Amino acid sequence: MRNVVIIGSGCAGNTAAIYTARANLKPLVISGHEAGGQLSLTTLVENFPGFPEGINGPELVENMRKQAQNFGAEYLAGNVVDTDLSGRPFRINIEGEWIETRTLIVASGASARWLGLENEQKLIGHGVSSCATCDGFFYRGRKIMVIGGGDSAMEEANFLSRFGSEVTLVHCREEFRASKIMLDRARANPKIKFLTNTMVDDVYDVSKGVVTGVRLRNVKTNAAWDQEVDGFFLAIGHVPNTKVFKGQIETDADGYIISKGGARTNIQGVFHAGDVQDRVYRQAITASGAGCMAAIEVERFLEAEGH
Ligand SMILES: Cc1cc2nc3c(=O)[nH]c(=O)nc-3n(C[C@H](O)[C@H](O)[C@H](O)COP(=O)(O)OP(=O)(O)OC[C@H]3O[C@@H](n4cnc5c(N)ncnc54)[C@H](O)[C@@H]3O)c2cc1C
Repeated sequence: MRNVVIIGSGCAGNTAAIYTARANLKPLVISGHEAGGQLSLTTLVENFPGFPEGINGPELVENMRKQAQNFGAEYLAGNVVDTDLSGRPFRINIEGEWIETRTLIVASGASARWLGLENEQKLIGHGVSSCATCDGFFYRGRKIMVIGGGDSAMEEANFLSRFGSEVTLVHCREEFRASKIMLDRARANPKIKFLTNTMVDDVYDVSKGVVTGVRLRNVKTNAAWDQEVDGFFLAIGHVPNTKVFKGQIETDADGYIISKGGARTNIQGVFHAGDVQDRVYRQAITASGAGCMAAIEVERFLEAEGH
């Protein structure tokens, strides 16, 4: 029987592990399919406090993991494939093996949607990004492309226009899902150029290890052409990793956990941390802060129960 199991080894899970380990709760962290979380995908992180020259994403999360392990946190590779949160202890199935825990911290994140192109995946962190707030600064005076047609695409295009020499917004349809106000704002921005009915067929150039351009195609005429670009930003949504809690932890229609205040979920003893509940800020520092909150709630919850 565990005091606390933490699902996810990104910033939220690792920070929760540091705090609960230092509270002597011997946390077990389930690393999941993406050990280190989303930061393990990227290169330089310049906005996490404490690193004046920046730090590489994988190194930052690896440091957090080591810090948690130094205080006794255990890490287990594997995915949670099922959960039974109907009564306590909670039961967690890790690839076939059930374990029991008094409390649970869900820090399973929200994965960015990608186009799924082979070269796009190889160039993540080298010109391909899913986070304008994180990476916009790297593209000052450069050519930027944003993919998407919803509010977040408009918001990201507007934000990125502060940095880029030009921003091309590419959308596969004629009509936009974005609200009129967001669309109008983007249309009024002289730096943003719209390309509708356009698909991305490929991203170049893996051999150079950096984005230099894309292959585009008009879906109506099938005409294809290459366009030079330095920063390629996906703004086609995120998928919260909450499938294994379906029908148990309350989520909104998109699958984000609904907070019941602080780090609490609708189930007593189950707490949320990080992007799995946050559709607004989605930053390493906010995820870490949320991990700290969840850990403190766990400590108090267990204390109140005499553990
Ligand atoms: C390319 C890129 C660049 C970024 N750059 C920056 C930046 O410069 N600065 C910044 O502040 N933020 C940046 N971000 C955002 C930042 O990475 C996220 O906000 C942060 O990682 C969220 O942390 P998290 O712990 O909530 O979730 P994640 O990092 O998404 O971690 C989720 C964890 O849950 C695990 N998991 C999921 N499902 C399961 C399951 N069923 N069983 C077990 N484990 C599971 C995963 O394996 C993973 O370890 C960037 C994001 C991306 C994609």
